[in-house]
Amino acid sequence: MLIDTHAHLTDVRYEGAGEIISNMDADGLERVISVGFNEFSSAYSVKIAEQNPKIYAAVGIHPSDAADVGQGYLGTLAELCDSVKCVAVGEIGLDYHYDDTDKRSQMRVLIEQLELVRSVNLPAVFHVRDAYGDFYDVIKKYRSNLTAGAVMHCFSGSKETALTYADMGFYISFSGSITFKNSKAAEIIQALPLDRILIETDCPYLAPTPHRGELNYPKYVRYQAEKIAEVRGLPVEEVIEITRQNAYRAFPRLN
Ligand SMILES: [Zn+2]
Repeated sequence: MLIDTHAHLTDVRYEGAGEIISNMDADGLERVISVGFNEFSSAYSVKIAEQNPKIYAAVGIHPSDAADVGQGYLGTLAELCDSVKCVAVGEIGLDYHYDDTDKRSQMRVLIEQLELVRSVNLPAVFHVRDAYGDFYDVIKKYRSNLTAGAVMHCFSGSKETALTYADMGFYISFSGSITFKNSKAAEIIQALPLDRILIETDCPYLAPTPHRGELNYPKYVRYQAEKIAEVRGLPVEEVIEITRQNAYRAFPRLN
């Protein structure tokens, strides 16, 4: 059975995600982790998780939301981490993709959340885009905060970067972008140890080929498993089983 380790079930287009959740068995989905990107979506993800046995949550402030955080946000996130259904702090990180990014706020909020990671002893789920250099400097300094490990979500860096983080014990998570025609992920997938690889959809974004451009759904995580199976020359069922076991190892509260 499949595990989608990174989905945004709180998106309005899913209208509460009732239909996605009730179809999980039929879709071959065992677990979905709904990931927060601000205070509201974090609290909402925990609420959905507490109401549905197969849904889990991650809570955090996305770098693109860092400039807008309220004063008490760390306390709110810490309380949400008390839920047994909260498996990680994330998504947190750095994103310099847009020209108007407030790098100072991003850095401050990332470092504050790395203190939270240490105090709650949960894995961190990192979002890094066009910022791998600065992010590496932060990780070198705060690596000891990652007491429960870390995931590089929707990995978009180089092979060397992927191997560096894999060597540090991080998991490298692949989204639907690996199925795109121009993707350079194959050489990364080829080089990584299989026990470091996770799959995700990042839905509603990044629907994989052949659904590219459409609304994405957790069930489409199968396409990522198929792509990895193709690159590694393995049966898809084996990739599904390996990534399933990796997910339970990466997120100890997932069960
Ligand atoms: Zn995401």
